[in-house]
Amino acid sequence: MKIFFKNLAYVYKMSKPPVSKMVLYVFLNIFRIAASIVFPILEARQIVALTNNKLHQLILISLVILLVNTLAKLIHYFTDKMGDLLYIEIIEKIKIKVASSVLRVETNTLNSNSTGVFLQRIGDDCDRLGDVFGTIIEKIKDIFQGLGVFIAVFIINRTVFMYSLLGLIINYLINNKRNKVWKEYNKAYKADAEKMSGFASELVRGAKDIKMLNSEDSFSNRIVTLTRKVNDSFYARTVVSRRYFFARSAVRDFLDFGLVVLLVLLIEHDILAATYALIIYNYMYQIKSFGGTLTDFMSFAANFDASCERVKEVLEGETFPKESFGNVHLKNVNGDFEFKKVSFRYEEDEKYVLDNISFKVNANETVAFVGRSGAGKSTIFNLLCKLYKANKGEITIDGVNINDLDKDSIRGNITIISQNPYIFNVSIKDNFKLVKKNVTMSEIQEACKAARLDKFIDSLPNKYDTIIGEGGVNLSGGERQRLAIARALVQKTEIILFDEATSALDNKTQEGIQKAIEGMKREYTILIIAHRLSTIVNADRILFIDKGKVVAEGTHKELLKNCKQYQELYKTELINNK
Ligand code: ADP
Repeated sequence: MKIFFKNLAYVYKMSKPPVSKMVLYVFLNIFRIAASIVFPILEARQIVALTNNKLHQLILISLVILLVNTLAKLIHYFTDKMGDLLYIEIIEKIKIKVASSVLRVETNTLNSNSTGVFLQRIGDDCDRLGDVFGTIIEKIKDIFQGLGVFIAVFIINRTVFMYSLLGLIINYLINNKRNKVWKEYNKAYKADAEKMSGFASELVRGAKDIKMLNSEDSFSNRIVTLTRKVNDSFYARTVVSRRYFFARSAVRDFLDFGLVVLLVLLIEHDILAATYALIIYNYMYQIKSFGGTLTDFMSFAANFDASCERVKEVLEGETFPKESFGNVHLKNVNGDFEFKKVSFRYEEDEKYVLDNISFKVNANETVAFVGRSGAGKSTIFNLLCKLYKANKGEITIDGVNINDLDKDSIRGNITIISQNPYIFNVSIKDNFKLVKKNVTMSEIQEACKAARLDKFIDSLPNKYDTIIGEGGVNLSGGERQRLAIARALVQKTEIILFDEATSALDNKTQEGIQKAIEGMKREYTILIIAHRLSTIVNADRILFIDKGKVVAEGTHKELLKNCKQYQELYKTELINNK
C-alpha cells in the first residue's frame, strides 16, 4: 500500500488532474452509493406490501424506487462521462511525457533495447496509469457501498453479519493467493509480449529488406516461435485465472446455500423477521461482490505499481539513461569545429573506433572524409551531433566544448543527410513543416529548386501536398536524398553533414546531388563522407581516415601525389568505373 500511494502521488504530480472535477465526481458518486444501500430495503418493502395486499403502499414504494432509480441512472451517465473525460485528460499528459522522454534516451540505450520495450510503456502502461484515478474513485464507491451494506446487516442481525464476515475473509484469502500467482504469470506474459511487438515492428520496417534477402521463411519461423511463446504465456495466465475463478465461485455457491439455511433457521427460531431476511437476501449480491471489490482493487494496485515502475524507468534516467547537455547557448554560429585528441568506442570492452583523432574544420569550408569502410567516418558525424559522447578528448563548435552547449546549439546547427534519410510519412510540404514550423511555401519551393527536386514534385498529382512514404508515393533513393537536402536547406543550419550517396545511385542522380552540394559551398560548413572519390575532387580539403585516425590530409591533387592509400583507392575506383 505504501508503494501504491507513492506511485499514486507520482502519477498525480505528473498528470495534475483537475481537483475540482475530481471532487464533483466523488460527490456525485456518493448519491449512487446511498441509492444502492436504500434499494434492497425498498424492494423488500415492496414484496411485503404485495404479500400483505397493501396495494396503495406498493404503488407509493414503486414510485419512490422509480424516482431514485432514474436519478441514480442520470448521475451514473454523467459520472461515467466525467470519468472518461478525466481519463483522456490524464492519459494525454502522461503519454506526451513518456513519448518525449523516449526521444531523450541515449542513442546507445535506444539501440540496445527492442522497440517493443518502449512501445509497451507508451501504450499499455500509460493506459493503466491514466485509469488510476477513475478506478480508485470507482473502487472507493464500491468499498463504501459494501461497508454501508455490512453496517446495515450488522444492525439487522449479528449472526448473519459474522457469517458474511467469514465469507468475506475466505473470499479474500482465495483472491489474495490468486493475485500473487497471477502476478508472476503476468510478468512472464508481458516480457514475451514486449519481445513479440518489438519483433513485429522490425518485421514491418524491414519488410523490403526481408524480401530482398529472400528470407521470409526464417522471419516467419521466428514470428511463429514468438507468437507461440506469447500465446503459451497468455494461456498459462488464463489457466491460473480460471482455476481461481472456479475455486472462488464454488466457495461462493456453498456460502450462498449456507446463508439461505442460516436465514431459514433464524426465521424458524423467531430471531429474524421475514422482511429483514428478505432485505438481507437482497443485499446478498453486494455482500458477495464486496470481497471481490477489495481483491480486485489489490490486483489493480499491483498492476498499477508494475506499470508505474516501468513508466518511471523511461521518465527517470537510471534504466534508460538520458542524453545530457550543457547550458551554453550559441546565438549566431559560425560553423567551425574541432576534434582535439578524441577517442571513442561504442562498447566499453571493445577497441577504440576513433583513436586520439585531431582535426579542425573552418567555417564555410567543404571537407571530405575518405577511407575504408569501418574506418570511423560516420562515427565522427555521430560524435559531432552528440548522438554519442566522446570517451576522451574534446570536441568544440565555435571554440566551445560541445559538452557545455545546450541541445539547440548542437542539433539546431547541424543537419545530417544520411545515405537513407528518414522521410516522414506525411505530405512533402509537411515534411518541411516538421523540421521548421513557420516555413513558407516560397522557402520550400526555393529549397526544392536548389536540391533539384522541383521538377519532380511538379510532376506529382498533388504536387507539394502529395503524401510520400507508406501508403503514398514511393521515392527513389536519389529523390529521398534530394528531399533531405532540401529539408536541410530550409533549416539553414550552419553545418551540413553528408553521408554521401552510395554507388547504388545512378550517375545522373549522383550528378544532381553533386550540383546541389556545389550550390551550397562557401555558404555552409559542409562535411562529406565520400564513397566515390569523383564526388569530392572539388572539396577544399580531404582527410584520409584509417583505423580511427587522420593519416593524410590535403586537396585531391595533393593526396594523389603524397598519399599512397589515396592513390590506391583512386586506382580501384578508376578500374571499377571502366
Ligand atoms: P565508416 O563510416 O568509416 O564506414 P563507422 O564509423 O560507421 O565507419 O564504423 C566504425 C566502427 O564502429 C566499425 O567497426 C563499426 O562496426 C563500429 N560501429 C559503428 N556503429 C556502431 C554501433 N552503433 N555500435 C557498435 N559499433 C558500431
